Amino acid sequence: MEQITGNVAISVQDVSKIFDDGTSTFVALDQVSLDIGSNEFFTLLGPSGCGKTTLLRLIAGFEQPSNGQILLNGKNLDRLPPFKRPVNTVFQNYALFPHMTISQNIAFGLEMLGRPKKEVSDIVEEMLELVQMKHLADRKITQISGGQQQRVALARALAPKPQVLLLDEPLSALDLQLRKDMQLELKRLQLETGITFIFVTHDQEEALTMSDRIAVMQGGHILQIGPPRDIYEHPRHRFVAGFIGEINLLTAKIVKTGPDGTEIQLGEISNIKSASVSTVPTGEAISLAIRPERIFLDSEGKQPLSGLLTNVVYHGTDTLYHFNLPDGQSLRARRQNTRKVDEGWKAGDTISWSVQPDSIAIIEDR
Ligand code: ATP
Repeated sequence: MEQITGNVAISVQDVSKIFDDGTSTFVALDQVSLDIGSNEFFTLLGPSGCGKTTLLRLIAGFEQPSNGQILLNGKNLDRLPPFKRPVNTVFQNYALFPHMTISQNIAFGLEMLGRPKKEVSDIVEEMLELVQMKHLADRKITQISGGQQQRVALARALAPKPQVLLLDEPLSALDLQLRKDMQLELKRLQLETGITFIFVTHDQEEALTMSDRIAVMQGGHILQIGPPRDIYEHPRHRFVAGFIGEINLLTAKIVKTGPDGTEIQLGEISNIKSASVSTVPTGEAISLAIRPERIFLDSEGKQPLSGLLTNVVYHGTDTLYHFNLPDGQSLRARRQNTRKVDEGWKAGDTISWSVQPDSIAIIEDR
């Protein structure tokens, strides 16, 4: 699921970035390729140091690739300075001018571009409307909250109507509730303006909530690209499976594989079915990735396996069950508390469990 439905806005082709300080070299990006569609909300997701910001800086033009090229609407951006690219950036610290009013901040970039006065004031009005800050237009930056500053930073970056907006962890300074509100707000702004958003974050929930597609990065590489649901349901790497959401990773063996799925041996049980198609030969070890909320306990499912409960943790909305398999591997199942009654299961009880074939992803890297 890596295809784009509309036009390609940004095409990153075989791009590497090697930092060289004279005494040592560091490969921050290693032959990265990806296409981002126009009107897409695209997220670069990964842990600190994986190269997200470096890729964003290359697209913005603040850095040059060591190898490869970046195209915008099919044209090579090579040697085009940042201010000449139809690309704008929202930084983590907003970089607003504190002594200016909200309106002046929004107008600043347009004035620098030499846009006529009337056009500048019309766009400022439009942007104030877009981020719902009309009533505060004459307030100074020092007189507004962090969340409001975030909106001004967005308005200022959107004002020149860039084709692509780059957002480098723009919500990280906000508290949790405000961050959740702003996630919805960003999605709305992207839909309303139709501008391509490239969003950088290390927060998996943020990526799942807002993105049309996510690229998961690690160590200068892109491991997997896809829509949130695809990345969550069909992780192809251990790292992707573990970085996004909670996961059980079990060691198992391939019994038989075909176009309709794969039969797996887990401990002594050999007829477990996965909807994933594997390229690993029969008898070889693989990892199974199973989300805790996809495990049915007791007799709810169709593939009853057994386990020994080791811990039961009540969380209000759900309960987490830790249990061991006969071969010693451990698993976690998360069960929604849709009813008030306590099942009464406790550590030491033997339970049966099952998973639907489409909830078992096969991971081939080890
Ligand atoms: P974070 O979330 O912490 O910002 P990131 O994924 O955005 O992480 P980058 O800022 O892209 O990571 O950095 C990737 C790697 O490249 C890091 O190990 C970093 O130390 C290194 N790096 C970045 N800029 C330079 C530079 N100018 N010189 C040398 N190394 C650099």
